Amino acid sequence: MSLQFGPDYVRAIAPYQSGKPISEVAREFGLDVARIVKLASNENPLGMPESARLAMLDAMADGARYPDANGFDLKAAISAKYAVPQEWITLGNGSNDILELAAHALLAPGQAAMYAQYSFVVYALATQAVGATAIVVPAQDFGHDLAAMSAAMTANTRLVFIANPNNPTGTFLSAAALEAFLASVPPEVVVVLDEAYNEYLAPEHQYDSIAWVRKYPNLLVSRTLSKAYGLAGLRVGFGIAQPVLTDILNRIRQPFNVNSLAQAAAVAALNDSAYLAETARLNRVGYEQFTQAFDALGLHYVPSFGNFVLVKVGEDEAAGARVNLALLKRGVIVRPVGNYGLPQWLRVSIGLPAENAVFLDALTQVLA
Ligand SMILES: *Cc1c(COP(=O)(O)O)cnc(C)c1O
Repeated sequence: MSLQFGPDYVRAIAPYQSGKPISEVAREFGLDVARIVKLASNENPLGMPESARLAMLDAMADGARYPDANGFDLKAAISAKYAVPQEWITLGNGSNDILELAAHALLAPGQAAMYAQYSFVVYALATQAVGATAIVVPAQDFGHDLAAMSAAMTANTRLVFIANPNNPTGTFLSAAALEAFLASVPPEVVVVLDEAYNEYLAPEHQYDSIAWVRKYPNLLVSRTLSKAYGLAGLRVGFGIAQPVLTDILNRIRQPFNVNSLAQAAAVAALNDSAYLAETARLNRVGYEQFTQAFDALGLHYVPSFGNFVLVKVGEDEAAGARVNLALLKRGVIVRPVGNYGLPQWLRVSIGLPAENAVFLDALTQVLA
């Protein structure tokens, strides 16, 4: 028998495919780094907030010390912003960490996690890593079918992941639909409501998920500083839940999971409302730019509530991979989503207007 390590369920995990780094594309295709446009990972095209950069520089003075394991200042900032006690907050090394903590704390082999078809791949990875079973509920119009999810609940189900807005499709569930679902979920089943793109919602779509946390002890709301707050490289996210659930997550959290520079930058970013407003404005402008061009090219896209758009670039099963490669050769990095079961589609992050224009020009050439 050939040498192998780890349990079957770990060996069965397909590695996470991230957006290609700019430096890698430059090397592979012989391109100038400065000319490459990366619209692959839903990052904030404004670059990190200046307020966060300065706070980070300040925090460097203490680099020889361990970070505050309890993240007092950051929890204080979150606590003030969302009007929840600090005991309701779990800090994560990105919100990815929060999703994994939930899976590790709440699932075991023989139990099940539920999520929708075309939802964030980390839900599958975190579920597989603990040897739990996945209940994947078919999507409806590229989004969550909450009625089908309710119906698919089994006695072994312990965790439900819902992203709103959803990645990679950009779909949105209304507050009314979500709240009806929460009310229907058995109390021993934890719902992780992943709101990585919440800050991009237009005012008329905003809803108060923290009010639901006060009402439902089995709800964990997950947020990130990686998208609208512009700190993807620093890895900061957080969860908000009642203490009975927060306590369980913190028992398996690494004490120093969020480093001191990231904590300092996150406090500054959370309070930088000007940066957030500019982010939202640019995103609206970029969304118009994308969708007008897609309409002109006759391309189907899924209306998006996030900072990215899922667009169909061909009818055959190789279309996404083919167009992706042609774009890479022109120095444009987007995200193929064949691993999500969407081989005809590409997910494109909304960038600065000039970056969007480079992508749209390249796409027009490639499709011609
Ligand atoms: C980007 C994203 C996250 C956030 O990842 P981080 O680990 O916080 O960088 C979480 N959930 C979804 C659905 C995402 O798209």
